[in-house]
Amino acid sequence: MATTNDGVDMTESCVVCERETPHDIRLEIQTESSKPENAEFSREPYRVSECQVCGETTSTRMNNA
Ligand SMILES: [Zn+2]
Repeated sequence: MATTNDGVDMTESCVVCERETPHDIRLEIQTESSKPENAEFSREPYRVSECQVCGETTSTRMNNA
């Protein structure tokens, strides 16, 4: 059975709902440094998940270093 999946809806546990809820997952590049000259080296990818039930968002830094 073929299923179309955009890959944006994921079920994750929500600390607010205290149960597993559908989440909208997106990636954001957030600049941590306030210095413009260093911005290129301080941008970090964050995985942002937003609960589709209560709207709670959780940012997880994706830094493997
Ligand atoms: Zn929630």
